[in-house]
Amino acid sequence: MIDVSELNLPRFSDSCILSEGLKIGELDDMSEDEVIEVSPCTSERGNIMAEIDFSGGKDKLFLDSEVFCFLLESYKRHFAKSKCEHGIGFGRVLWKGRKIHVYENGKFKIHQAHDREDAIRSLNSMIRLIFSGLMCRNCGRPAVDCALGKCSSCISETSYEVARFQDYFNGPILKDGFDSLTHVLHSALELAEEGEWEEAKFSLRMERSVRDAIEQGMNFSLETEGQKGLKIGTMLIGLGRESFRLLKCLDVMNTVLHGEGNEKLLETLNNLTKSFWGSEIYLINILANGDLENDFKPSETLKVLDRLKKSIRDENMSEYDDIVINTSEIEDIIKTVCFWNNEVN
Ligand SMILES: [Zn+2]
Ligand SMILES: [Zn+2]
Repeated sequence: MIDVSELNLPRFSDSCILSEGLKIGELDDMSEDEVIEVSPCTSERGNIMAEIDFSGGKDKLFLDSEVFCFLLESYKRHFAKSKCEHGIGFGRVLWKGRKIHVYENGKFKIHQAHDREDAIRSLNSMIRLIFSGLMCRNCGRPAVDCALGKCSSCISETSYEVARFQDYFNGPILKDGFDSLTHVLHSALELAEEGEWEEAKFSLRMERSVRDAIEQGMNFSLETEGQKGLKIGTMLIGLGRESFRLLKCLDVMNTVLHGEGNEKLLETLNNLTKSFWGSEIYLINILANGDLENDFKPSETLKVLDRLKKSIRDENMSEYDDIVINTSEIEDIIKTVCFWNNEVN
């Protein structure tokens, strides 16, 4: 079992959101009429409604709404109410008595705040919470993709600094998050190795543990001081999100292939399942220990995936279309592992 208590943090390009941050401190100096507009609440006397606009009139997206909604969903037990529609790029939460509306173009509305300072505090917390969904102006992808090197342009050079969790006052939260993720990945790998992944109906339990890990990443980001902490929080959230995506792809594949009862394809799928969880564990190992003393070859996963795609093409059945759609998503995830494999080596 991997014990994650530190991470190798890559150096990010100066213009990457992970280096720049949102300059949250500057929010306090926002001029009254420039970015923030305050008006009395219509529903509650004495309270105010604040409108903050980061769009700067440009049509560039401020948020990746798919990641944003995923984050809200992972954190929903902290909200009295929440709703998110990534199709229209809008989400709202009722959080600690404030009603917060968030638009993907960078507009925020905070209702039921006591005063201007209170509104800015709520905004500050909200932005930290969803930091990993903010768009990077260097590559145009969400911060969570930069953190895992998926954008291939934000990690500027191959030098690393070690971030020890014990140096952070809320480091135990990070540790919990990583533990929750690594434990469930190990159990998943074990089940897959014994050929019992499907019968064990492990998917739901795994989803809960992965969501827990993401929630801890968000809790950590909410309170951490400095930009370095936000990078680490984003990496944990990113790893959780990748596992979640693999899980969803796997669910689709299992449903289709078990429905068809095609033994040959099911056998390949079982190999793929092993590779999935093996790759995720391997990736965490590289990030946590730079440890490559293990003969796992992430590129083998791509070969298994190719075999599956080829068999599906040979079958020529439209029922398998869903699987083919999922394979490109999987390729994207596994390539991340290959990237780190070469990078740290
Ligand atoms: Zn970036
Ligand atoms: Zn990037």
